[in-house]
Amino acid sequence: MARIAVIGAGMGAMATAARLAVAGHQVTVYEQGPTYGGAVGRYERDGFVFDTGPGLLHLPAVYRDLFVKTGKRPLEDCVDLVQADPAVRHVLPDGTAVTLPGTSRGGAAAALDRAFGAGSGDRWNEVLNRARDAWDATRRPLLEEPLRPDWQVLGRDPYPAVRRSGLLRRRPPTLAEIAGRELGGPLGELLAARVEAYGIDPAGAPAAAAVLPYMEQTFGSWYVRGGMRALATAVYERCLERKVSFSFDTPVRGVLERGGRAAGLVLADGTEAEADHVVCAADPRRLGVPLPPDGVPARGTGVRSRCTLLLALRGARPEDAVHRTLVHSPGGLLTVLRPDDPGTRPDAAHEALTVSLACGPEGPAPDRVDGLLDLAARAVPELRERLLWCEVRTPADIEAATGAAGGAVPPPALAGAGGRLLYPGNSTALPGLYLAGGWAHPGGGLAHAGMTGALVAGLIVEGAGFRGSQ
Ligand SMILES: Cc1cc2nc3c(=O)[nH]c(=O)nc-3n(C[C@H](O)[C@H](O)[C@H](O)COP(=O)(O)OP(=O)(O)OC[C@H]3O[C@@H](n4cnc5c(N)ncnc54)[C@H](O)[C@@H]3O)c2cc1C
Repeated sequence: MARIAVIGAGMGAMATAARLAVAGHQVTVYEQGPTYGGAVGRYERDGFVFDTGPGLLHLPAVYRDLFVKTGKRPLEDCVDLVQADPAVRHVLPDGTAVTLPGTSRGGAAAALDRAFGAGSGDRWNEVLNRARDAWDATRRPLLEEPLRPDWQVLGRDPYPAVRRSGLLRRRPPTLAEIAGRELGGPLGELLAARVEAYGIDPAGAPAAAAVLPYMEQTFGSWYVRGGMRALATAVYERCLERKVSFSFDTPVRGVLERGGRAAGLVLADGTEAEADHVVCAADPRRLGVPLPPDGVPARGTGVRSRCTLLLALRGARPEDAVHRTLVHSPGGLLTVLRPDDPGTRPDAAHEALTVSLACGPEGPAPDRVDGLLDLAARAVPELRERLLWCEVRTPADIEAATGAAGGAVPPPALAGAGGRLLYPGNSTALPGLYLAGGWAHPGGGLAHAGMTGALVAGLIVEGAGFRGSQ
């Protein structure tokens, strides 16, 4: 039995801790804040309940696997997981709206034909078929295995873009370019928006970013009743069942190094906590953690944050309201979430709703926040008349919750772009020190950070030869 110290109590950290505890290790999680969950926060006021972090889970299989591998009760016994269906509504700048169903390709095609003319659905599905090829080609090395030593091969874009005759291809097209060339018009805007919603700039993203809308359409978008924080609570309780110890209000200053390997932690008050292995599940740049040699550089610059408005509304949520609406505008993409969940409102005559926008570390200018309400009103008629109050969560709030510089929210890793959108591998240059959570391979998002748990636990339990679960 080894002693394992984990830095941070975010989702990646807890997924790692539960798996290591089940393998018989003595795991202690050191968290700088007073609670678990990191970005997965909740805000309650006057009977309204809001998620301050993630609003949807993609690839629930990651958490199903975690619960199967760490105890008797499956995920669905621990949280009330529901699929958002319809999955998303797009509102375009000219007011055109299209609502796409959960995981039905045929249903999506029919909705697109109705909105944009016959043949639109087929063109959309052709692009998603190419995205499926990119997904199939990279799923294992990008998501299910520790980052391979020859990670440079993942820098090649696996999206089989349609070749344009007569043009010399100097570089692979970006996501924005394939959105324009292979779809064009409003359909292209839909594709770009589904990538932008992850905080990724479609003009700088590889075409392989189309795997993100493919993933959503194939595996669905999921919500946990009572708010996404319930998922963090379930994982935390699973950790406690497995005898993981949590030390809250305990910031870590750095990693203790002895004899050329990680030997524990140095806490902010100067005390040392010895351990046989250390897992850093927080932004490694902040902790000065050594990264893998000759590996992918730490992500940071250019990773965007979020500004979120928490809106308490009077009046019932309409029956036909859609869980997620993306409001397209020249100034950016707004995500409006209005879960059909009695647990988030004081009674049926009120509604809790969140509105969010990707932004830089400074957040939107204060006068812009009012403009966001106008934009949100394009998804929610009479928003201003119904508004009781509004709380604004800024990048500084996210930085406080996660410790990530500028409140940056790391998106999932993507193949292509010469490897620019990959993350450092889970083993580091210092033996005994590992990286988990959204800043490590395969990147951020609830599902991806959850995957880091399986990878790091595999590397510690099975050793450096671990090549992913079968
Ligand atoms: C506003 C917002 C919206 C999002 N929307 C979605 C979404 O819809 N779907 C989705 O899948 N994902 C979404 N995400 C991303 C998702 O929440 C994260 O990727 C996921 O929660 C994984 O986080 P993590 O494991 O990297 O840990 P984090 O949540 O980053 O937590 C890190 C933890 O480490 C602690 N810590 C940091 N430094 C130290 C230190 N020195 N000592 C001790 N502890 C430390 C922090 O206090 C924190 O608890 C969103 C995030 C935000 C902020």
